[in-house]
Amino acid sequence: MHGGHQRIDVEWLALAAGLKPAIRIAATALEASAIAGRFQAMGAAVVTARGPVGVHRHEHTLVYVARDPEAAAAARAAERPLLATHLPPRDKAYYAGELGRRLGYPRCCVDAFTARILRGPGKLRAGDRDSVHEDYVAAHDAYVAKPDWRLNNLLLRQHLRLVTFEPCRYDCGLALAFAAEVLRLCHASDGPSAHVLVDRLQRPLVLTAAGARAWARLERGASPRVVAAEAPRAGDPAARPDPADEVLAARLPRLALAELGDPPPLLLDFSA
Ligand SMILES: [Zn+2]
Repeated sequence: MHGGHQRIDVEWLALAAGLKPAIRIAATALEASAIAGRFQAMGAAVVTARGPVGVHRHEHTLVYVARDPEAAAAARAAERPLLATHLPPRDKAYYAGELGRRLGYPRCCVDAFTARILRGPGKLRAGDRDSVHEDYVAAHDAYVAKPDWRLNNLLLRQHLRLVTFEPCRYDCGLALAFAAEVLRLCHASDGPSAHVLVDRLQRPLVLTAAGARAWARLERGASPRVVAAEAPRAGDPAARPDPADEVLAARLPRLALAELGDPPPLLLDFSA
């Protein structure tokens, strides 16, 4: 039966279909054992590691899932140097590239990701003094006037996504080929959930430099105006939206984007 919070595990679909060699999930120790158990029950090979990850270097349990133990171990081995206490940016970029390839991400998108590491975390441009949210930097790099909704990677917290990597551009051909296959698998595996996912991913989204995001309804004209906004929600009706997202959603219809921060928020019209 499908509960209200049922969602498609797109990474598992992609792995099982051979589109991806391995999956990597950063979780708390408690979440990690549940995740590992779930994947093992589906017949996957699972290995784990522990270490600091992300821009903030918070301690996480890393769960690596693959169809066979060798591929799971290879993904873990690729990340091991990155869990070391300190690495110069060049080494970090090199190992992050290795990990990205082990996880089956498109080469061009991996290259864009490692370029951001070399630029410095949170830096929009090399040499910038100020830092912004890493999702904003990646979305700024990937920005195109008509972003393809299938590459919408800004709702990972809500578990709404076809891709879990940062596309080099929101119209990257390799990323789109992957996303289109995952979408096909989603429709084949659970049609109703796939329709919900598509509806959510196609909503125009505003992302601030601090990382807050909101779904926006636009009035189209010479320059689109936000007439209504809503904090993104997970499929689970009990899940609370992020408070920072709610603040943004409340302010969006009243203020122009330029009034909402410097650098101003990005408007990604995934409905275009
Ligand atoms: Zn790409």
